Amino acid sequence: MTTPVQILATPVAEAVDVRPPLKRPLAKLGLRTVRDVLFNFPRDYEDLSDLRGIEALEEDVLQTVRGTVEEVDSRSIGFGKTRVGVLIADRGFQLRATWFNQPFMRDKFKVGDRVQFSAKPKQRGGRWEMTHPHTVWLGDEFAEADQQSSTSELQPVYSLSDGITQFHMRRIAGKIVSEFAEVPDEVFSAELLAKYKLPTIHEALKAIHLPENREQVEQARRRFIFQELFVLQLALAARRHQQRVNFTAPELPVTAQIDARISRLLPFQLTAGQREAVEQIADDLSTTTPMNRLLQGDVGSGKTLVAVYALLVCVAHGYQAALMAPTEILARQHSHTLEKLLDQSRVRYQLLVGGLKPNERQEVLRQMVEGETDLVIGTHALLQEKVQFKNLGLVVIDEQHKFGVEQRASLRRGDRSPHYLVMTATPIPRTMGMTQFGDLDVSTLHDMPPGRQPVTSYVVGPGERERWWEFTRNKLREGRQAFVVTPLVEESENIAATSVDQAFEQLTSGELADFRVDILHGRMTPAEKDEVMERFRQGETQVLVATTVIEVGVDVPNASMMIIASPERFGIAQLHQLRGRVGRGKHAGFCAVLVDDETSDDARARLQKFADTHSGFELAEVDFAIRGPGDLFGTRQHGLPPLLVADLVRDGDVLVDARDAAIELFQADPGLSSHAKLRSQMLRKYGDALDLSDVG
Ligand code: ADP
Ligand code: MG
Repeated sequence: MTTPVQILATPVAEAVDVRPPLKRPLAKLGLRTVRDVLFNFPRDYEDLSDLRGIEALEEDVLQTVRGTVEEVDSRSIGFGKTRVGVLIADRGFQLRATWFNQPFMRDKFKVGDRVQFSAKPKQRGGRWEMTHPHTVWLGDEFAEADQQSSTSELQPVYSLSDGITQFHMRRIAGKIVSEFAEVPDEVFSAELLAKYKLPTIHEALKAIHLPENREQVEQARRRFIFQELFVLQLALAARRHQQRVNFTAPELPVTAQIDARISRLLPFQLTAGQREAVEQIADDLSTTTPMNRLLQGDVGSGKTLVAVYALLVCVAHGYQAALMAPTEILARQHSHTLEKLLDQSRVRYQLLVGGLKPNERQEVLRQMVEGETDLVIGTHALLQEKVQFKNLGLVVIDEQHKFGVEQRASLRRGDRSPHYLVMTATPIPRTMGMTQFGDLDVSTLHDMPPGRQPVTSYVVGPGERERWWEFTRNKLREGRQAFVVTPLVEESENIAATSVDQAFEQLTSGELADFRVDILHGRMTPAEKDEVMERFRQGETQVLVATTVIEVGVDVPNASMMIIASPERFGIAQLHQLRGRVGRGKHAGFCAVLVDDETSDDARARLQKFADTHSGFELAEVDFAIRGPGDLFGTRQHGLPPLLVADLVRDGDVLVDARDAAIELFQADPGLSSHAKLRSQMLRKYGDALDLSDVG
């Protein structure tokens, strides 16, 4: 007996008649088996529904005509090339179809045949012509065919390679689909298909290759998109489940005493949003199931305080905790914050960053292994090295979008896992949250700490520059501070002429000559950067000219001005991050993006949208819609294989359905034992990336 799997593995050339010269191009397209062809979806469709009389044709628009063959000729046009011409007529109007270098076309037509041609026509010498039209031989049905309906409105358009034409691809796909579309097994139950109004796999395969109308194509596409997203959601559900059953974390309940002790250390009363997030985290920490929580909140919403609370809960139970930041500047800043908070406490903490001397570093590592330090603040170097803790209970990762999914796993030991809290200030568009971060529980800070001032943003053109600098100088005289940010300079550009240096030169000898200006960029040593940041934090310098090293997290409440040069080189989410550096204290913030005459209209419109929109959540959706997910979270960074048919920007609605359905199915059958097909699809695509073991 032959199974469906075996049938689908049949080589194309054994399944249907394939002319030998076509075998190589098919292989080049990756089309070796029946399965390959069935799942090689058209990249587009030609709409042949615009059926007209020859006299009503328009140039360069895809149209369909019908007629009777009057003449067929074939001639050599030199250098071994040929041209086949077919003249058809319909009620006295004539049209000529031409094929170059397809001499076999000559034998396909006989005078008197009734045919249908579809192509974009051209008028030459008073006569209509079509080159390589899509052709249907109408046979006798033409006799009664009415001029309103054609035999098939939509023709699939496949990707091609050298040596194979659309005509041949359609023929091969058509045969395979007619013969084998019923073979693949349906992975969804009839109830599920009915509930989400999806066609069966058999209907969908036929419809996507040989549709009768657009509606059918859409239904079929929706089914395949649903399936792809469903399998992803199933994998994420399996991962969540396996994290729970395979790993144990320490129990860290928040007692009234612990809460009181921590609250005494914190400099502010928590906002309602911070309180809610803290409660959710406290719930997670109180069980042996490792926490996997994402804390998202707009720039400046006060995520650090929530993190500190969680870290101190962990330390209160005698476990070690780690706080990780994407940049050394941010790690050092967190260390400063904690230094102030922990002044009156017995918590022992260490900073572990790249800039340490070897013996200092050795000492920190020793304290970590031997449990002589409670809290370690570091960069992601913490994750990459084989860093040992004595009893790690909690890891907080700040600015998670800078880290990959897989890195979260690296601090596990055997079946012991710390609790994880990851934080991001780049609000995650809804659909991204459900996919790339789909294995996490989410807490969201919706409010801002009290007294927060709005940041007013302006798009400043060349004509308004001088007024803007005057405004900046006034603010500096009032005691405020300013950031001037220039884009990172690419490696290919001349290092000696970085724009941050240029901006610094220009401002110190011009607009800001009377003020204390400093410079900060990625080529400085960590110690140098730290000194510069510290001088700025202390108010010794008034203006900091910097690259995006200050993009995330930097917190200097007295800074109220953010000026961004070449803003078109930043993503919207990034601009919002930068803007979030000001307006953090009691002073209103101002942000200017400097455009010039060369800035394109598109870029200007995007920047204006940025200036007009205050909510990071709203902006993230805008940015996502314009630029797709790639720019927010590099696809390589998150570590999941790419989606082939689904598009997170376009298919958000299908995603919601697929997610509901996948979660429901997984809850009913966590081992997927009665869904072997889905299980194997899931493991094939996501087993490695999501580190899934086959528990079924
Ligand atoms: P982000 O969420 O961007 O990381 P931060 O944690 O850096 O934000 O907090 C932004 C600013 O708000 C900091 O200056 C911090 O001290 C202040 N802040 C945080 N929570 C509160 C609060 N509950 N009340 C008053 N100020 C707060
Ligand atoms: Mg932060």
